[in-house]
Amino acid sequence: MSDSSHFVFPPAAVVSVPVVGTTARFPVQRVYCVGRNYEEHAKEMGFTGREAPFFFLKPANALLPVADGATARMPYPSLTKDLHHEVELVVAIGLGGKNIPASEADHHIFGYAVGLDMTRRDLQNDMKKQGRPWSIGKAFDNSAPIGPITPASLAGATAQAEIALDVNGSARQRSDTSKLIWSVPEIIEHLSAAWELRAGDLIYTGTPQGVAAVVPGDTMLATIAGLVPLRVQVV
Ligand code: MN
Repeated sequence: MSDSSHFVFPPAAVVSVPVVGTTARFPVQRVYCVGRNYEEHAKEMGFTGREAPFFFLKPANALLPVADGATARMPYPSLTKDLHHEVELVVAIGLGGKNIPASEADHHIFGYAVGLDMTRRDLQNDMKKQGRPWSIGKAFDNSAPIGPITPASLAGATAQAEIALDVNGSARQRSDTSKLIWSVPEIIEHLSAAWELRAGDLIYTGTPQGVAAVVPGDTMLATIAGLVPLRVQVV
């Protein structure tokens, strides 16, 4: 079925992310994101107490994959005056499944990466107020920068790792992945009850406190102990 005359126009290339230790890349299916998954961030967004986990999605072609050592250029998006950074631990699913119990979740994880859930906060807030979907605030082009994926066997202890974001060398976000309200195995249990997960799915697991605006010219350095850092300049 390699005959491209099968399609009315050439299909887009598969979106993929570099993988540490190999030239082979991770082919992406879907990009799930968890909302409000650190207590201090939930508070800064005006919420308290443990909620059931909730999810939104970004299209795979909203990813901005960044090679080790590179600084990606992210165009400042249209329509917003309040573009926010959200540094997040990203889980890469290597084995699909549905109704995966938390105790089995590790078998489904290919690896981990550092990601940014870039957010047009003003548009997201407008949609929230009106009870409308967040897509325009969350799922825009280049809204999901991601660094190389480190295979789980090579990653550090991602369940307890410092997670941080600096802008132009100044600290903005500082926390630890042990403060996730819903842990990675619990997220996979909940997600796989709602969707049949597929190899190639990515999960952005939520951001800690300290989200704030960036403007053109700013350079973000996103880090998680044990993973490859992610550098993105807004242009
Ligand atoms: Mn987020």
